[in-house]
Amino acid sequence: MVSFLDLKSLNAQYKEELKEACSRVIDSGWYVQGPEFKAFEKEFAEYCGTQQAIGVGNGLDALILTLRAWKELGKLQDGDEVIVQGNTYIASVLAITENNLVPVFAEPNPESFNLDAQGIKAVLTEKTKVILPVHLYGALSPMQEIMEVAKEHNLLVLEDCAQAHGAQEAEHKAGAWGDAGAFSFYPGKNLGALGDGGAVTTNDPELAAMIRALSNYGSEEKYVHRYQGVNSRLDEMQAAMLRVKLRHLDREIENRRNVANSYKAGINNPHIELPIYEETERHVFHLFVIKTELREQLQQHLLNSGIQTLIHYPTAPHKQGAYKQYNDLTLPISEKLHEQVLSLPVSSVMSEEQIQAVIQSCNNFSVE
Ligand SMILES: *Cc1c(COP(=O)(O)O)cnc(C)c1O
Repeated sequence: MVSFLDLKSLNAQYKEELKEACSRVIDSGWYVQGPEFKAFEKEFAEYCGTQQAIGVGNGLDALILTLRAWKELGKLQDGDEVIVQGNTYIASVLAITENNLVPVFAEPNPESFNLDAQGIKAVLTEKTKVILPVHLYGALSPMQEIMEVAKEHNLLVLEDCAQAHGAQEAEHKAGAWGDAGAFSFYPGKNLGALGDGGAVTTNDPELAAMIRALSNYGSEEKYVHRYQGVNSRLDEMQAAMLRVKLRHLDREIENRRNVANSYKAGINNPHIELPIYEETERHVFHLFVIKTELREQLQQHLLNSGIQTLIHYPTAPHKQGAYKQYNDLTLPISEKLHEQVLSLPVSSVMSEEQIQAVIQSCNNFSVE
């Protein structure tokens, strides 16, 4: 049996350290925005190479609060357009509409699954104010060319880094390229808490201060409320868990890369299109996503060999019930990806036998 992601075994690797951190929090008597929170923010900013990291309640809030902060700072207003790729997880889009901004769906590059300059330029208008590239599946978007377009058209860039902690190109990690980066620490993410959590990274002190205030009841000073904020804070317990897991993140990523490289080298089936990536630091393999015209059959075949797979994602955001106003929109590249993608198991706790079982089952898949 190869489960898609065995979180219990993954966290068991760090059980002693996690228990110790947990006890430290219990004994401290301080459970929200205390020393663990502050220490994690500092350590995560250092890891990402940004001046600041602001801990918040989850990844969706990290996205929502960044856009909201830009509105409060006068950089955005209702109706401004935000460019996002059509094949993303719905959270990226919810953050835009939650702020009364307009999502403009760009087609991704079908080989990288990510936004590129060409896709952005095809949908740029006078009302475009933000580019929201999602580093989907753990692969950093081509940030050099995206930042060039942003600079040329005076646009803000918010990276959705929920799947890409630690992905790096040239001198910058994910979250250090744009004006801000939004991270999720949902348990299944590459840097996962034991509950919900999120953060925003930025080098902009004004933005950081605004997000801090908005996430804490719009308050910078106790009982003084400058903004109609929300309660979205990273609690002490999750911050303490994340400090432990951050210390092991680079090794986790290395293990994921090894699984991916084994798949790349071993899977050889004309019905399976492997992901295209260079042997670089850019990909942290949150997911290993293949394409196939025979998805249902392949998924069933793998399941028959005890191998669990998932689809990220079965339905494009613009085809969801939540977005009836966009249901008639046609995005051929995004929609085709949604029909063809299949995610194979990847984690730091897969054994060599499990990796080989996945490869073998992929290779002996055939249709009559
Ligand atoms: C997981 C995820 C989010 C949302 O994170 P939560 O912590 O679950 O709110 C946002 N964007 C992408 C691309 C994600 O994968």
